[in-house]
Amino acid sequence: MLRELGRNVYAIIGNKGGANCGFVITNEGVVVIDTTLFPSKAREVLENIHIITSEPVIYVFNTHYHGEHIFGNEVFNAPVIASTKTLEILRSVADSYVKEYVDKDKDLAPLLKDVHIILPSVTFNKKKTFTFSNKRLTFVHTGGHTPDSSYVFIEPDNVVFSGDTISAGLHPQICKDSNIEDWRRAILSIRKIYPEHIVPGHGYVCGVEETDAMLNYFLTLKDIMKEIEQESDVDKISHLEGISEISNRGFPELFVSNLKVLFYLKYGKKSIEHA
Ligand SMILES: [Zn+2]
Repeated sequence: MLRELGRNVYAIIGNKGGANCGFVITNEGVVVIDTTLFPSKAREVLENIHIITSEPVIYVFNTHYHGEHIFGNEVFNAPVIASTKTLEILRSVADSYVKEYVDKDKDLAPLLKDVHIILPSVTFNKKKTFTFSNKRLTFVHTGGHTPDSSYVFIEPDNVVFSGDTISAGLHPQICKDSNIEDWRRAILSIRKIYPEHIVPGHGYVCGVEETDAMLNYFLTLKDIMKEIEQESDVDKISHLEGISEISNRGFPELFVSNLKVLFYLKYGKKSIEHA
């Protein structure tokens, strides 16, 4: 679903909570934000761009290294902007990263067969602003969801593409390389901008209310963790799904897996087996 959020700022919302992406039409050309899991989907995005403008794609920005944000990069045939950390991670995994996805789900094999990882060639450390004659794009590296997680702030439209730092109406995915403190700081950094629209990595276009919902989500998980530790009874997890910060979100299967990863992050490998 294509949505115009500001003048020449478009979000494309993934089906059923699939990864979102978008693009900004500057006077100097189009900047694409994230490129979906499948080259076939990325080609549809490119067709959408061609319908709206004859400007060429001049940059692709990747919010972080996860496949559903980068596997379509090659389709756009443009330099990739990302944090230095994204480059570092992708360089270390290279094309074997695609195989990881196929190993997890064999059905993906035909859809991912054309994927070649395109490494970022325009990198930034903390923050980098690109000024075009009609737009200003500020890329900010925060870490959190992943060590390389970044967002982009678009002016004068006051729109943020947050990557997976925000998941609207869905459980966020806490990963083994997540850092919850950095994640909270990343959310606060977006909140401080007070964007009119936030395009999350997954879920619907939202406003700052979802930054509060995300912060509450982490607080709730922390409370639940504490309770499990005190009760030393992991079965209690299932009884806690009535808590609204938790039960109102889609992808409920991520709830238990998030708790397991939190235990892993706190206590190391053994705790996952225990859980
Ligand atoms: Zn992600």
